[in-house]
Amino acid sequence: MHTTFQELGLSENLLKAVGDVGYTTPTPIQEQAIPYVLQMRDVLGCAQTGTGKTASFILPMFEILKEGRTKVRMPRALVLEPTRELAMQVAENFDLYGKYLPQLSKALLIGGENLDPQIRALKKNPDVLIATPGRLLDMMERGHVMLNDIKILVIDEADRMLDMGFIPDIEKITARLPFTRQTLFFSATMAPEIRKLADKFLSNPKSISVTPPASTVATIDHALIDLPTGHDAQKRHALRYLLKTHEVQNAFIFCNRKRDVALLERSLKRHGFNAGALHGDLDQSVRIKTLDAFRDGVIDLLVCSDVAARGLDIADVSHVFNFDVPFNPEDYVHRIGRTGRAGRAGVALTFVTPDETKQVQAIEALIKKVITRRVLEGLPAAPASGKPRAPRDKKRSKRAAPTPREQAAAPPAPAKAASNSKAFGDHLPAFLRHARKV
Ligand code: AMP
Repeated sequence: MHTTFQELGLSENLLKAVGDVGYTTPTPIQEQAIPYVLQMRDVLGCAQTGTGKTASFILPMFEILKEGRTKVRMPRALVLEPTRELAMQVAENFDLYGKYLPQLSKALLIGGENLDPQIRALKKNPDVLIATPGRLLDMMERGHVMLNDIKILVIDEADRMLDMGFIPDIEKITARLPFTRQTLFFSATMAPEIRKLADKFLSNPKSISVTPPASTVATIDHALIDLPTGHDAQKRHALRYLLKTHEVQNAFIFCNRKRDVALLERSLKRHGFNAGALHGDLDQSVRIKTLDAFRDGVIDLLVCSDVAARGLDIADVSHVFNFDVPFNPEDYVHRIGRTGRAGRAGVALTFVTPDETKQVQAIEALIKKVITRRVLEGLPAAPASGKPRAPRDKKRSKRAAPTPREQAAAPPAPAKAASNSKAFGDHLPAFLRHARKV
């Protein structure tokens, strides 16, 4: 018999809101974290997104804050998120769960957007700040907000904060918080550097781990597909084949480099697929629009980079494709975790070229599992255009635009839209048109 939300010690207004959202039982992280947060303990939570982690800190935070009052420009809780998208997601959760507690308010402080509306939100003396570190520091330095009365600090996605270089900012922020406060620290992985950080920020925390560190979710059917060469044109060809032969409702497609995100999006569109792109160089407004379009089903395929897609919570994503094996093995766990969310089934397929085998070994060592290899039956040979990719080059990878050669290597426009075209690898030279196993 599972614990119920009632048994976790949440009050009627929160139970009603949770019921309205349709949750019947708490997820393991909620079951384990909520009682300790309510006891005002520090919590060290090892949990991936998709486990219900947001509610595990927002619900008890409401419970604690609903009794007190916020002073002028002195919010009582602070949630730090590494990306604007994640901060927006937490803000949406705040509105959902706080539906019957209208006395509690929030301000969302995220970079890349006009300061004025956020300054106006701060003037309304919000109880809770949901922020990305850079924008919060900016607001603090301009004197729009003081953190002297913060009672609860949430550091979410700590491993991502570390990857993105936000730790110095977080240290500056925490130096301005009262010493006696409650800190909740969440990370999908617990690498030694993360533990060290946790020791710095937490005092006698209750450790909670809902899945072993860096494990993959059981509802995801994930597999590797070996490709014989690293030709991008061949990868695009194999991807189109998968998209046409699998029941892909919608999918995240991950590339390691921003320029490949742009290139692949254009290529998919040329082949009649309904695709959009998401990477860190795009304007905030474009990112939000694209994400909304994907959420609403206006776009089926979202080609993206790791930074842009980390932690995004879109419930019904049928597939994840890794166009490239991620350089960082932990990103594999995050990428495939975009599907199979909240107990649903999902499929994640990763292309592996011969020069990516080391990256695969690192992933398998991390998740302590050998990933199934799958054969692509009936894939026609790829177009013979394109050269293998140059090895990773940080400077080059910053460029979003493809080189003229890459543009030339991109497949030509299809005669028909993908949905009604059964011909794979349009314009293939005849001598390459034979079925083969990959
Ligand atoms: P999170 O890990 O916070 O990103 O949440 C992942 C997904 O799980 C979100 O879509 C939530 O709406 C959903 N969720 C959170 N708690 C529950 C619950 N108790 N039962 C079912 N779904 C939940």
